[in-house]
Amino acid sequence: MELRFIADSNVGKLAKWLRLMGYDTLFFKDVDDNLLIEIALNEGRILLTRDTRLVQRRVVTGVSVAKHGTLKAILLQEDNPKLQLRQVVKELNLELYAAPFTRCMECNCSLTPRHKDEVRKLVPPYVFRTQSQFMQCEGCNRIYWRGTHWQRMHEELQKLIEEQNTE
Ligand SMILES: [Zn+2]
Repeated sequence: MELRFIADSNVGKLAKWLRLMGYDTLFFKDVDDNLLIEIALNEGRILLTRDTRLVQRRVVTGVSVAKHGTLKAILLQEDNPKLQLRQVVKELNLELYAAPFTRCMECNCSLTPRHKDEVRKLVPPYVFRTQSQFMQCEGCNRIYWRGTHWQRMHEELQKLIEEQNTE
């Protein structure tokens, strides 16, 4: 089964990383704890949080032994989003390149490939000249291309894999 997540309001950057990797990850800036838990349970999402109390309030078992209807959660040990990502990748054995470039980092919706001609007026001229692959978000209409920011993030992911492999 495909893993899906819901991120607590204190781990927004981690949510973006998971979306970059292609994982369906909900994130709300301001959300009531009960609602967060309810969505996680209803949609079978793994709750990602820094909040010890949130995890302790319910009987939470480790993801590997979680049964249907039990809240699955990962209590993140670090403040640094990259270290958080590392913890999640490790605990769930995530594949870093499962489906990159398929999900909007801002709103979590799926991306659809667009022909170059379709985005001519929607991207800066330099980008239009230098890029050949474009994706558009079905939710917020944002256009994505494999520009420098995207490349940087993927280099970070690559580093993460290498560090993991050398352990
Ligand atoms: Zn979007």
